[in-house]
Amino acid sequence: MRTRKVPLRKCVACQQMMPKKELIRVVKTPQDEVLIDLTGKKSGRGAYLCGKLSCFKLAHKSKALDRALKHPVHSDIYEQLAQDFIRVEDEFLAMKEQAHDDDE
Ligand SMILES: [Zn+2]
Repeated sequence: MRTRKVPLRKCVACQQMMPKKELIRVVKTPQDEVLIDLTGKKSGRGAYLCGKLSCFKLAHKSKALDRALKHPVHSDIYEQLAQDFIRVEDEFLAMKEQAHDDDE
């Protein structure tokens, strides 16, 4: 069986190692905004979360993003990220499917 090197990243909420494309990147921009970065190409310090709402909630509870981004993340921002995640979830899942197709 052929093994493929998949870049792994750690979800900052549940600490699970996952292939990069299974995770959502959250970035702190040079303007100090904290945003979901679906493209993975925005500049700034990044942190990864599983593509699961539960991990957004867990990150909020444990303030995992504050630590990962080395930046205080307000409760409102965590709420906003969770809302944004719900909005982009379909797109994220579609991208994931596509990524899997590329592996064939
Ligand atoms: Zn997680």
